[in-house]
Amino acid sequence: MQKTKSYLSDTVSRLKPSGIRRFFDLAASMEGVISLGVGEPDFITPWGVREACILSLEQGYTSYTANAGLLELRKEISDYLLRRFRVSYDPADELIVTVGASQALDVSLRAIVNPGDEVIVVEPSFVSYAPLVSLAGGVPIPVQTSGTYQFKLQPEQIEQVVTPKTKALIICSPNNPTGTVLNAEELAQIAHIVAKHDLLVISDEIYAELCYDEQYTSFPAIAHMRERTILINGFSKGFAMTGWRLGFIAAPKDLATAMLKIHQYTMMCAPTMAQYAAIEALRNGADDVERMKKSYRQRRNFFVQSLNELGLSCHMPGGAFYAFPSIQSTAMTSEQFAERLLLEEKVAVVPGNVFGASGEGYIRCSYASSLEQLQEAIRRMKRFLERL
Ligand code: PMP
Repeated sequence: MQKTKSYLSDTVSRLKPSGIRRFFDLAASMEGVISLGVGEPDFITPWGVREACILSLEQGYTSYTANAGLLELRKEISDYLLRRFRVSYDPADELIVTVGASQALDVSLRAIVNPGDEVIVVEPSFVSYAPLVSLAGGVPIPVQTSGTYQFKLQPEQIEQVVTPKTKALIICSPNNPTGTVLNAEELAQIAHIVAKHDLLVISDEIYAELCYDEQYTSFPAIAHMRERTILINGFSKGFAMTGWRLGFIAAPKDLATAMLKIHQYTMMCAPTMAQYAAIEALRNGADDVERMKKSYRQRRNFFVQSLNELGLSCHMPGGAFYAFPSIQSTAMTSEQFAERLLLEEKVAVVPGNVFGASGEGYIRCSYASSLEQLQEAIRRMKRFLERL
């Protein structure tokens, strides 16, 4: 055993397994659990999209595509980005179709990070960012946002951690796990600091379609930011296509060309049948996205109001499908709270500390669950809190 371990690289040995897994494994071993733990839509992919995939298989489109993805799909992505977010990318050499936003993040970081380069990660954050920075040979530098500001990054926080080694900043709006959305003005303030220190920005916009209260602003749409932004998006969340493993990168040509080298050697191309499905999603999926969004908004309103009524103070998240209530009134750590809630009332949530230090004192609840399940979860949480 010891001998086998000695084969591992130092980087991988140091990597900690995701804190979310432990709760999923525990919840999976129990019966009657209401899971508010998983970060994925509860909708099945719209039928038209599934049908387009089936048709592509019937037509025998089962070979590799171009490394960057089907040109037809890249053209659709280019039109979509312009139509929805007012950002313009050339399908010929500024777009790469990837295996989910996950691979897009990996490729982006590996293309820009030199050994020891620092990448600022705004926490609480999606659990993959810091490990992906480490795997790329960089050093993740966490910045802690605060519940006091609804977990919005304060631009001066960037200045407090910038060093000559800082290469990039990863932002995510709407955010996982907090649901926080940064508006145009807030992004412009970040842009100002980013330009001042000549940083690159990796903007993870995977939840851009799920923005409930205001018009979404894409980071490269902010003045002068396109040239220093790697835009990441995909089909998993807005189009309910998590299992298809399809995302994309949009970046200025020099960056995209470098990323394509990595993509071509490691992945060859994204799954062909999923690419045909994605063309249909972009051409005719807008009504389905709107329908799902309307449903999430309704569930968000119910769930967040109910949490506040229970005394678990929670800001109204502007996007994604997560509520991030404070459990500080219970005097438990978020791990203790999540574990007891699961064991005693069979409701699975994710302790906030797995998303970074400032997530301590909070839990992440996904409201991508039926209204009936959410109502039952609230009943159980009420009982749990009354017993404390
Ligand atoms: N970024 C964020 C913020 C996410 O929450 C997720 C999925 N949980 C991803 C990226 C990865 O998405 P994909 O399924 O496209 O790989």
